[in-house]
Amino acid sequence: MQGYIIHTQKVKDEDMIVYLLTSNSLIKCYRFYGARHPSIMQGYKIDFELVESANFLPHLRSVLHLGFSWLILRERLIIWQQFMRLFYAHLKDVENIDEIYFQEIEICAQRLLKQNPKRLIIEAYVRILEHEGRLHDEPTCFVCDEKIEGFISLTRGFLPSHPNCFGNLNLNFEKIQHLFKKKSTILLDDREVNELYSIVLQGF
Ligand SMILES: [Zn+2]
Repeated sequence: MQGYIIHTQKVKDEDMIVYLLTSNSLIKCYRFYGARHPSIMQGYKIDFELVESANFLPHLRSVLHLGFSWLILRERLIIWQQFMRLFYAHLKDVENIDEIYFQEIEICAQRLLKQNPKRLIIEAYVRILEHEGRLHDEPTCFVCDEKIEGFISLTRGFLPSHPNCFGNLNLNFEKIQHLFKKKSTILLDDREVNELYSIVLQGF
């Protein structure tokens, strides 16, 4: 099986509880420490086996690290780990996991070396919101229920409002419409990308 390590939790000694996102599930498993075992780190993609245990978590075995060349680029890795944290928070209590989360992670992982990681993640976030039926691509303000024109503010889940009604962003409405419809950040400058990325970090 293959999956992404989206969360780890140290337990006694050097053992770990590991949360792996595969294409259709979030697996919580137990990793016994071994000095010669490959390292387990949030964000890594691994090939693995599970050994079922009658009255305990399944054991994580035969781990093979499927590396990406950007993993050595510290700045990218940090952004990547922030992205993983979002998925853990969003999916940790969900029983049946839709394929889209794994697919979006795959898309981002494959493009991360060459593309701007924050832009990639914002675009993935928009696609996931749309898939979940939560993307407001004909935006009305969630506070006053009136149409939005000119400028828009967004909050967690890219919930739209008038800048005067809620939030502290003042983004160009046309550019945000383009992002929501085309799933592309191409019209946004770096300042706008940073502002949107800070919303993304609040979670799905
Ligand atoms: Zn309003």
